[in-house]
Amino acid sequence: MLTDWNLPFRVLVDSAPDGLVVCDARGQIVVVNGEAERIFGYDHDELIGQSIDLLVPDRVRGFHHRHVERYVEAPRRRPMGSTLDLHGHHKTGREFPVEVSLSPVTTERGLLIIAGVRDVSDRRRLEHEHRRMASYLASAVEAVQDAFLLFDEHDRVIMMNSAARQLLGHVGDQQVIGRSFEQLLDGTLAADIYDLGAEAREAFRARRLAYHRAPAGVLELRNRHGRHLRVIEHRTAEAGAVTMISDVTDDVERADELRRARAEAEAASAAKSEFLSSMSHELRTPLNAILGFAQLLERDRKRPLDDHQRERLGYVQRGGEHLLHLIDDVLDLARIEAGRLAISAEPVNAADVLVEVVHSLEPMAARGQIELAIAPPAGALPSLIADRTRLTQILMNFGSNAIKYGKPHGHVAFVTELGAASLRIEVRDDGIGIPADKRARIFEPFQRAGQESGSIEGTGIGLTISKRLVELMHGTIGFASEVGVGSRFWIELPIQ
Ligand code: ADP
Repeated sequence: MLTDWNLPFRVLVDSAPDGLVVCDARGQIVVVNGEAERIFGYDHDELIGQSIDLLVPDRVRGFHHRHVERYVEAPRRRPMGSTLDLHGHHKTGREFPVEVSLSPVTTERGLLIIAGVRDVSDRRRLEHEHRRMASYLASAVEAVQDAFLLFDEHDRVIMMNSAARQLLGHVGDQQVIGRSFEQLLDGTLAADIYDLGAEAREAFRARRLAYHRAPAGVLELRNRHGRHLRVIEHRTAEAGAVTMISDVTDDVERADELRRARAEAEAASAAKSEFLSSMSHELRTPLNAILGFAQLLERDRKRPLDDHQRERLGYVQRGGEHLLHLIDDVLDLARIEAGRLAISAEPVNAADVLVEVVHSLEPMAARGQIELAIAPPAGALPSLIADRTRLTQILMNFGSNAIKYGKPHGHVAFVTELGAASLRIEVRDDGIGIPADKRARIFEPFQRAGQESGSIEGTGIGLTISKRLVELMHGTIGFASEVGVGSRFWIELPIQ
């Protein structure tokens, strides 16, 4: 019978997926299967009759021997060295990790020990790789500044960093891994970690839980130390959740500060414009009365003024007109600074504007004995994209300055130059020029570049207004000047 069984038994043993090594009570190998031969690199005949020690690394041989002896004294079926890292010894001397399970069999030849041996090199490599990845992941999570918590599909914490632990306060000092989101939430509520404001605890709990179950957008919270926290959660593909909580207190405070500053600035600016417009109205009314009555006096046919009186009245009128001019300029500037000046951008015939400006300036130029010219003579110029009234205002400012600060018998020319997408209009004079140390602040309000105590009337805001207007019309402004030689002021505006 036994012989009949021999062949199938051999085939069975050989096709077993694990290595089988059978030895007797003295540790001598009596049976090995094909897988064991393959794992250890020996032929069948090289193993039979050898000590089992052949298959264990040199360094544990003595130790292994005692184990075999002890096993023989109390044989039972068990995995071997369950707490140890076991290694096999290959014929080439190479060591490899193995898992071994032992079972005793009593036969007529005495006790036999059957060792099932499995080469677990691949598995160990994978485990090692997994451990490495897990440690990478843990360091990455730890390196994140924000609090980080990872929940599994049962909503239990499986990973967190120390920022999260810190954020959880008392709750974070205890065991957190393995606790559910709800347990954590209740823990933090009981420990008063959050500042709920006017919200009832149950409402807060429900809101927090709802966000956790179906997170959308961000959740802003405050803790009781007044820190602003921004919670962002995502569900993971495995039906778990990732929670990230960042402390955004600095950002919130900065934004608050900015908002406050802006509101203050707007209020101040509104108050200033309000003040300026009401003041200019208050000033204009009596001023118009002064100018109106001065005119009546001047034209009074019944009681005409004598030359002396007429001269004095002239001072009143010029002073009044200067004041009116100043009020208009200040009001314009206030409107621009408050963003309340509407600029229309429409095609403007540059040649028409130049002719009109020169025409208006002629009486003033004549008084100053200054010759006015347009060069090249205003012919066909392209249309500018500008606000006609405001363009006229700028050119009047340039032109009147060129005359005011010109020399008797001097020249003022309006020079145009066509660029690729813009037209440059330059006002040139051969007047007194601007001192080098005054040029940098020429476009600032009330800067009169050394003319403060001079006899030439002015407010020092004409150029400020011109610059603001040009910028509102998407153009540029500039100047060049030399004392005693003259000045050039120009603007460039887009053409149609
Ligand atoms: P103002 O009412 O004083 O003329 P502006 O703002 O128009 O004010 O000009 C500022 C200052 O720039 C003037 O006070 C003057 O000193 C100087 N300035 C402007 N244009 C010229 C020019 N063409 N030649 C010399 N100085 C000029």
